[in-house]
This record gives sequence, C-alpha cells and structure tokens, in this order.
Amino acid sequence: MAKRKREPKKKRARKKPIVIHKHHVIPSSRGGDKLGEDDIVRIDGNLHMKYHSLFGNLNPSEILAWLESYFWGGKRKQLEEKMKGD
Ligand SMILES: [Zn+2]
Repeated sequence: MAKRKREPKKKRARKKPIVIHKHHVIPSSRGGDKLGEDDIVRIDGNLHMKYHSLFGNLNPSEILAWLESYFWGGKRKQLEEKMKGD
C-alpha cells in the first residue's frame, strides 16, 4: 500500500484579540483627570493607538478645527449645505 502524503495544514488567519484601552476624551495632561470616570471611554487598543498617532493629545474641539482645516479645506459649511437633502 502506497503511503499517502500528508497535505500541509492550512493556516487559519488568526484574529488578534481585542485589547481594551482606557481613553481620556479630554487628555489627562490637559485636565481630563479632574473629570474622573466621566472622561474615560473604553475602546479597542488598536484604534486607540491610531487615534493618538493622528490627533496626539488634542481635545475634541481642537480635533474638529484641525480636521476642518487639514482635511476639509475650510469648506465644511459649504459642503454640508450642498449635502442637505441627500
Ligand atoms: Zn487615549
């Protein structure tokens, strides 16, 4: 009887386990610590790292201003007007 060759096992793509991080909406270095648990949200650690690589320690209003200037070319209001009714 001929020996059958074993086929290599197919590797399954492993999903990385989601690690939950605590994120301060108002950075602790900028006073968020004073707000206690109200300032903390629990989020996917991978997204958390990406968030801070993009926005650093900007607060929400600074992020919005930066997005408006950098990504939206200062045209937010005009674009929102054009998008009304979609
Ligand atoms: Zn954070």
